[in-house]
Amino acid sequence: MPTPLVVKPGPLELLDHPIARAAGVKLYVKRDDLYSPAPGTALQGNKVRKLLPLLEEVTRLPAKPLLVSFGGAYSNHLSALATAGRLFDTPVVVYVRGEEVDNALLRQAEADGATLIRVSRQAYRQKTAAAWLAARRRELVAQFDVPAERIWFIPEGGTTRQGVAAMAGLHREITHQLGQIPDYVCLSAGTGGTAAGLILAATSVTKVEVYPALRGNWMAEEIGKWLPAAQGVNWSCIPDYHYGGYGKFPAEWIVAAPGLAKRANIGPHLPPLEPVYTAKLFSGVLDRIAKGAYRKGGTIVLVHTGGIY
Ligand SMILES: *Cc1c(COP(=O)(O)O)cnc(C)c1O
Repeated sequence: MPTPLVVKPGPLELLDHPIARAAGVKLYVKRDDLYSPAPGTALQGNKVRKLLPLLEEVTRLPAKPLLVSFGGAYSNHLSALATAGRLFDTPVVVYVRGEEVDNALLRQAEADGATLIRVSRQAYRQKTAAAWLAARRRELVAQFDVPAERIWFIPEGGTTRQGVAAMAGLHREITHQLGQIPDYVCLSAGTGGTAAGLILAATSVTKVEVYPALRGNWMAEEIGKWLPAAQGVNWSCIPDYHYGGYGKFPAEWIVAAPGLAKRANIGPHLPPLEPVYTAKLFSGVLDRIAKGAYRKGGTIVLVHTGGIY
């Protein structure tokens, strides 16, 4: 891997959709799914944005750290981190939620050289608890023969302060490629880190809409933790398009796809989309356009955050 890491921006594409045309809005897709230092691998999308500051540090260090993180059985972060470990020649350990889980994504992560440690759902819930992490650190020191300070814990989803700050680059690319400040930026959320970063980078001209891919009403609070108490950006969570919850989707969406990917067909005029985040976002925004949620003549940018599963 070359240093410094240069990643080419994915294009901003006009989505000429009849629903957008009828409503008189201009709909664009920011192809952040194409954002990758190694195109075609699982190291892509918003997981690259979040991991890049850390990976740049890894490339500068003479002694490689042990990167340790957490994920569910279908975590794109887990998959991206495992690929990063292979490409940047640094060891990776991931605690995986569920003692019995196994699937092609996890096997790919192991093929990339990552060590997966399955833990019960109950243990997984401790993943931010200092005492639990200290105990894991002691185990990892013994198992991998590394000094404790060279073990780097990375939060679930790769959502770190640096990773959130890196979304300023995404916002800059959008504004530059569009040639103006967008009226609306819409994106999906899992941990909310990507959304928080975009909100931090946006100006008061833009309305940021966040579409949680999970059921529940906690996302706004989660995002709020990253934001200063007083910030002038107009943003909101649109919680109505989780389609049953995380990893759940209407059965009729799912279409055959090559390799590890699952893809969703959410209707005509769109390619098959990654179902966990992006399909829900696109489907939600199109529904809201049809319902007149956006002002006529407005410019809407959908962020395609990527995704393997
Ligand atoms: C992880 C992921 C998200 C969620 O990002 P957060 O920063 O955790 O909210 C959205 N889209 C895709 C494709 C992802 O892989």
